[in-house]
Amino acid sequence: MKIEICNYNGFCSGVRVAIDKANKILSQEKKLYSYGEIIHNKEVVAKLKNKGLVVVEDVPQASDAKLLIRAHGVGKSVVDKLKQSNFEVIDATCVKVKKIHKIVEEHKKNGYDIIIVGDKNHPEVLGILGWCNNEATIIDSPEELLNMDIIPERNYCLVSQTTFNTNTFDKILNTINEHKFLNVEVYNTICDATRKRQEACVELASRCNVMLIIGGKNSSNTKKLYELSKAICPNTFLIENYKEIPYNYIDKNTIVGVSAGASAPDWIIEEVTKMLENLNNNMNEQTEKNEQAEQT
Ligand code: SF4
Repeated sequence: MKIEICNYNGFCSGVRVAIDKANKILSQEKKLYSYGEIIHNKEVVAKLKNKGLVVVEDVPQASDAKLLIRAHGVGKSVVDKLKQSNFEVIDATCVKVKKIHKIVEEHKKNGYDIIIVGDKNHPEVLGILGWCNNEATIIDSPEELLNMDIIPERNYCLVSQTTFNTNTFDKILNTINEHKFLNVEVYNTICDATRKRQEACVELASRCNVMLIIGGKNSSNTKKLYELSKAICPNTFLIENYKEIPYNYIDKNTIVGVSAGASAPDWIIEEVTKMLENLNNNMNEQTEKNEQAEQT
C-alpha cells in the first residue's frame, strides 16, 4: 500500500485567520459571538464552542461580547445593522470575499445586472447577494446561463463563489464565448487556494486507486474536491475523520491519495494519515509473517 498526500491541503489563509482571531479572543474572554458558523467543520466549531463561542444567525439582542464575522462574509444590511449596534465587531471576512463584495456593489451602482456563479444556499453567495441589493441571478451551470435570456442592450457583471468548481466555471466561460455574450463582464473570483487544491487533488486522483477527501460534509470546497476526484477515481470517499476510513477498499496494493478541504484542520488530517500508516505497517508485518511461514 502506498499513501500519497496532496500538495495543497487543509485550512486556507482566510479560514486560518478567522480561527486564529477566534482563538485569540477566547484565550482572553469567556464569550464570543460568531455570525454564522465560522467554518464548515463540526469538530472545529465544537472545540471553539467549548471555549465560549456562540454561533448566531442574526445580530444578538445583548451586546455582552464581541462579534466575529466569519470568513465567508455577510451582506451589507448585516454590516449596517452591526454599525448601529453597540457590538465590537471583529471582521474576519476573507479579503478575497471582500473584493467580490466591492465588485458587485460598484457594478450594481453603475447599472449592471449581476450574475453570481455559485451555490444558491451558500452563506458566501448570500453575503455577496447582500452587496448588490439582493438583486442578482445565481447560476451554477452553463444551462442556467443560457436560460437567463441575456439581453444585448444590458450590461452584466459575472462573479464566482470563491470555492466554485473550476471545471464548471470554465464551461460557463466557454458558453459566454461561444454565444458571443460580449456584454457580460467576467470576474473570475475563484480563489487561488481553491484552484490549487482542486488542481492538486485532480492530479493526485489520476494516480490513485482510492481517494480520501477529508472535510466537513457541509463544506462547499470539500464537496467540490470530492466531485472532481470522483470523476477520475471512482473510489473516492468524503470523510470527516479517521473513523470513516473505508478499510474495505484498501489492501496492500492500493495507492491511497489523501486530500483535504479548506475546512479540515491539521490535526484531523494527521489522525487520518497516522491511521493509514498504522494500517500499512500492519499489512507489511502480516506479509512478512506470511512469507516467513511459507519458507519454513
Ligand atoms: Fe478566502 Fe479562498 Fe479561503 Fe475562501 S477559500 S476563505 S476566499 S482563502
